[in-house]
Amino acid sequence: MLNKQEYIDKAESEIYKTYNRFPVVFDHGDGVRLYDTDGNEYLDFYAGIAVNGLGYNDAEFNEAVKAQVDKLLHISNLYYNVPSVEAAELLLKASQMDKVFFTNSGTEAIEGALKIARRYAYNKDGGHDHEIIAMNHSFHGRSLGALSVTGNDHYQEPFKPLIPGIKFADFNDLESVKAVVNEKTCAIIMETVQGEGGIYPATQEFLSGVRELCDKNDILLILDEIQCGMGRTGSMFAWQQYGVKPDVMTVAKALGNGVPIGAFLASGKAATAMVPGDHGTTYGGNPFVTAAAYKVLELFEKRDIVNHVKEMGDYLTKKLDKLKDNYDIIIARRGLGLIQGLEFKVPVSPIISQALIGQKLVIISAGTNIIRFVPPLVIEKEHVDEMVEKLSAVLDEQK
Ligand SMILES: *Cc1c(COP(=O)(O)O)cnc(C)c1O
Repeated sequence: MLNKQEYIDKAESEIYKTYNRFPVVFDHGDGVRLYDTDGNEYLDFYAGIAVNGLGYNDAEFNEAVKAQVDKLLHISNLYYNVPSVEAAELLLKASQMDKVFFTNSGTEAIEGALKIARRYAYNKDGGHDHEIIAMNHSFHGRSLGALSVTGNDHYQEPFKPLIPGIKFADFNDLESVKAVVNEKTCAIIMETVQGEGGIYPATQEFLSGVRELCDKNDILLILDEIQCGMGRTGSMFAWQQYGVKPDVMTVAKALGNGVPIGAFLASGKAATAMVPGDHGTTYGGNPFVTAAAYKVLELFEKRDIVNHVKEMGDYLTKKLDKLKDNYDIIIARRGLGLIQGLEFKVPVSPIISQALIGQKLVIISAGTNIIRFVPPLVIEKEHVDEMVEKLSAVLDEQK
């Protein structure tokens, strides 16, 4: 076994450098705790970027995954398999959508959603000039399609030209959307709660307004629930709190609790737009990953995770509001349930590093000035208190 610095040096020499990583080598996890290779214990308030909803080392989840490993990992999509049927049933029941396609990641779910939009419009007029409206400050992934609808110049610039026919509007500004809608518009894509862009929940007025606009003009509404879905906001999917149903929805992150799986789901007219031959994946929806997703969905029901999130979300909200009142450098708190952000007057990366190294608290940013809180959904009040204590200690040092 190498020591920590040797692992870091080896990683830096071997692994393509597209990340500036924190100098920690994690070894294992348990509940809401992470442990590094030196045996240090950390409090986790980022859940692998909103992935580990059930926390780490959940006995029931692990058992189900291990059992499937021994049974059957992969068969391709040329044949049927039982776990995919079971996972699909629970996901459709939770979302009230009509059809699901399993992918290997969130980005791929976005690709599928964009293809539904293009296909739906093509079915109507055979044209190739259809447009998709996306939001500024959005994040939908790094493949060329997903990047094309990600409203972030910094991510896009070095990789242009991206896919054509994308227009941008301002999130929570209905007039800005209306200004770019025309007869070529086939879809509007947005996160229900912008994550990466700074934790901005959609306003009711905006989401309802966009839905209405879509209905009036036969435009598909694509809601990206990859980060904010799967219980995180205090409902299974964030849009369920708004009473606005999408035509297409994407999920991933917490769906597999760490096993890589995503999905795009479609309802109504969008559910039949693509036909055999239009889309595929070798791994996607294999028995291994869908057995994991099935177990996640089953445990969500059995443990009433959504109501737990509601309760913990209220508690975290109160505590973060108090932090904001206590520290002048905090400008605002935003969020829903257990996806929360604190906006600072200053860049937060020194605070995040100090929390990690000095306090053994794992938090992440969302943009330059915002600390993002996306803890495992199974946190308890005592963990919120502990997080606030640790973060306060860091902020006191900055004073
Ligand atoms: C993480 C994320 C994605 C991309 O998912 P990957 O699994 O990293 O490909 C897309 N949209 C949103 C909102 C996300 O948070």
